[in-house]
Amino acid sequence: MIRQRSDIKGAQRIVVKIGSSLLADSDSMDSGAGGVQMARVQRFADEIAALHALGREVVVVSSGAVALGRVHLNWVGRKLSVHEKQAAAAIGQPALMHAYKQAFSGHGIGVAQMLLTADDLRNRRRYLNASNTGETLFAAGVVPIVNENDTVVVQEIKFGDNDNLGALVSLLLDADLLVIMTDVDALYDANPAVCSTAQRIGLVESITTEIMAMAGESGSHFGTGGMASKLKAARIATRGGVATAVVSGDKPGMLAALLDGADVGTLFACGGDRQTRRQHWIVEVLHPAGRIGVDAGAARALLTHGASLLPVGVCHVEGTFDKGECVEIVADDRVIARGLCNYSAEEMRRLVGVPSEDIERVLGYKDFSSVVHRDNLVLLNEKEEQAG
Ligand code: GLU
Repeated sequence: MIRQRSDIKGAQRIVVKIGSSLLADSDSMDSGAGGVQMARVQRFADEIAALHALGREVVVVSSGAVALGRVHLNWVGRKLSVHEKQAAAAIGQPALMHAYKQAFSGHGIGVAQMLLTADDLRNRRRYLNASNTGETLFAAGVVPIVNENDTVVVQEIKFGDNDNLGALVSLLLDADLLVIMTDVDALYDANPAVCSTAQRIGLVESITTEIMAMAGESGSHFGTGGMASKLKAARIATRGGVATAVVSGDKPGMLAALLDGADVGTLFACGGDRQTRRQHWIVEVLHPAGRIGVDAGAARALLTHGASLLPVGVCHVEGTFDKGECVEIVADDRVIARGLCNYSAEEMRRLVGVPSEDIERVLGYKDFSSVVHRDNLVLLNEKEEQAG
């Protein structure tokens, strides 16, 4: 696990997230000349091929489909409806892949397209399928290029942004390092555009509320959108044991320098605890379908004794969910955990305060003594939750 700069040298599997601001070419978009900064794509391919030659496995998470589609449809500079954006993505995605295919072909490296939706990852079987496909592509020596499957999702069920997608892919594929290439070169302690004494933060050991505050509002603090989304992505990835670096995609050689342990950009190191894949899936991927309120005794048993949640400690149940769905566990109006519930919401309402030995009498059957088993339960860190 990467805890300091020098550990980066050992990174074997790397996710490189490339933002659309680095790929879309406004001049060529205006002139309708293709919309992709081909020289940039080529440089990224060259830098990634150099890592590949050293035996490292790299996956690219790339935006740019909508921007390229706009060019092809002559829709540049126009506000698009959701369906128009989806159509633009459908047209731009093959053009994006074509650019990567061409750029990597000179190095004799094949590329593969992986289009994912947040919904795909919520389904455990599809999650595992996507992970196995990634492994098989690595074994075949090709570079997977991942994007959101924009044509089938709308805002509410999207990953949200490709920083988030990059973090989830880095966990899905068990990467050692997520590198977010962007048009700012690091996280600063103040806005470098207006504050001449702003200092680059080279290493972040823990993404605290103070660190989150440095990102400011998207688009306001650094004159570019999205340091906040980069920090959120870094928090998701580092919790799962994947260190994250934010480096400039404008400057050549950053990837090699970073992988060589040089003090470039900002490194978000991994802390002590690491979520398992299953915990990550429960906390970062699934949407809770309901809430279970618990009493003080049950809260203490969960928080300090590593216990499973038993029906006797349940005080109230909110929402509609089936067996196996994700729920939030709430004590004193604070969400203390998330987990997969062994019983449906309707059954849970009948089990409020019921001792485990009476489950069968109440429901007519009993599959589990607990309502949320410890293995399917993840405690939430109060400080981190408040941070985000
Ligand atoms: N999936 C979008 C595209 O390829 C980009 C989303 C993002 O950059 O956050 O155009």
